Amino acid sequence: MGAGLSENLASVEERILAACARRGRRREEVTLLAVTKTFPAEAILEAYELGLREFGENYVQEFEQKAPLVRSLAGARFHLIGHLQSNKSRRAGELFDVIQTVDSAKLARRLDALARPLEVMIEVKLSPEEAKAGCAPEDLPALIEAIRACPNLRLAGLMTMPPWSDDPELSRPYFRRLRELGEKHGLPGLSMGMSHDLEAAIEEGATVVRVGTALFGPRRRQE
Ligand SMILES: *Cc1c(COP(=O)(O)O)cnc(C)c1O
Repeated sequence: MGAGLSENLASVEERILAACARRGRRREEVTLLAVTKTFPAEAILEAYELGLREFGENYVQEFEQKAPLVRSLAGARFHLIGHLQSNKSRRAGELFDVIQTVDSAKLARRLDALARPLEVMIEVKLSPEEAKAGCAPEDLPALIEAIRACPNLRLAGLMTMPPWSDDPELSRPYFRRLRELGEKHGLPGLSMGMSHDLEAAIEEGATVVRVGTALFGPRRRQE
């Protein structure tokens, strides 16, 4: 990390702009979420200096360590993008502004019970064999209804993570499917696309792309 972030950011911006241009979308329609898992709080501070405001972390405990250093940055918002176990929901609700990985009514109700306004997204499982977490598409209507009944939760949209492949074209059908589900349920927010497949995601309608490696470089093992 460190050296190179501003160059990396410039090239990610170029990729986002090019993908937007191909579909006649405006740059402002796509939020760049900087994924800082495994990197120290300094990486967040450096990205903030460069103008980034939305940050993604995977683990409650890991972010707990960094939070004291970054929580007060004006205008910064922190998204949980990793699976959330119910027993960590209280801490997650205190630390994060957005929980992108709500996948059950039980978890939604626990977050709602914290009595603090929270933005949430539903993680959708589009490949039954691969993903462990996520709401199955057929269970979406019930979960959406449950979340909409929670006064402290604002449902911002859907999130998904296709099975890993280094060929971005293999992610595209999953992105398209998430968009169709969003359209069907009146949810325009779509968190999809990572370092290697953000173009396909934007072309298919992503409103949030979650980018780690392309900004901060490779992570050491232990994801
Ligand atoms: C790590 C992670 C990302 C970022 O992945 P990169 O390939 O490093 O851009 C995005 N979304 C989720 C859910 C992740 O866990």
